[in-house]
Amino acid sequence: MTKAAAKLDVLAISPHPDDAEIGCGGVLRKLAAQGARCGIVDLTAGEMSSGGDRETRQRECQAAAKVLQLAARECLGLPDCGLEDSYEYRLRVAAMIRRYRPAVVLGTYYDLPPGRGLGHNDHIKGGLLTAHGANYAHLAKLPVEGEPWHPAAVYFYFLPPDLTPTFVVDVSEYYEDWLKAIFCHESQFGTPAQNPQVRHFFESMAMRWGRWAGGQYAQAFYSPWPLSLRDVLSAAQVRMSEEPEHV
Ligand SMILES: [Zn+2]
Repeated sequence: MTKAAAKLDVLAISPHPDDAEIGCGGVLRKLAAQGARCGIVDLTAGEMSSGGDRETRQRECQAAAKVLQLAARECLGLPDCGLEDSYEYRLRVAAMIRRYRPAVVLGTYYDLPPGRGLGHNDHIKGGLLTAHGANYAHLAKLPVEGEPWHPAAVYFYFLPPDLTPTFVVDVSEYYEDWLKAIFCHESQFGTPAQNPQVRHFFESMAMRWGRWAGGQYAQAFYSPWPLSLRDVLSAAQVRMSEEPEHV
């Protein structure tokens, strides 16, 4: 039976515990501060990671959820390092999306063009599962538990370095909470004091897009579908006030 779940505004789908924290944690924290109900669903428990066991990682997930003020966090229990964009797993993701009925779904970037280098299998397959699961969720005749639900938008995080994002979101105000949520996963990253280079890595990632967002730190997203701007002038104001250098 499908468990009832409170509706979410934004659902981030994370192949492993910590992916969503890294890729969109600052944005989730910002949205929570604006009153949005955000949640993370981990596709796997991260049980194949060299650091930490299943229980430790679960505790770390809950600690990070508190920092990000999430309304929901659960693990779907699919196999770590064994994600596939299969019919069975698409149905599992679709059923989960129907339970949470999110307006916006976030997933890991899914494409692997030649010459780009190999990403983690689960990040690629997890992104594909996010896209197809979100699509399946609204198809009434598919054998998916729950009422059909069509998220208004699906965006992707964890972009490869050479991919220009579709949009960036200023998270400067929530930068410290973003890092705190990442470092809740101590079994993966140690502490900021033990491992300052990890902190610098995430910091430089966020700084790269900060200027484009008109702030110091930002997170980047990709949309495979065109985005519609309700207010063209308001979207231009960030660029007019903080014109980044051409790159
Ligand atoms: Zn991962």
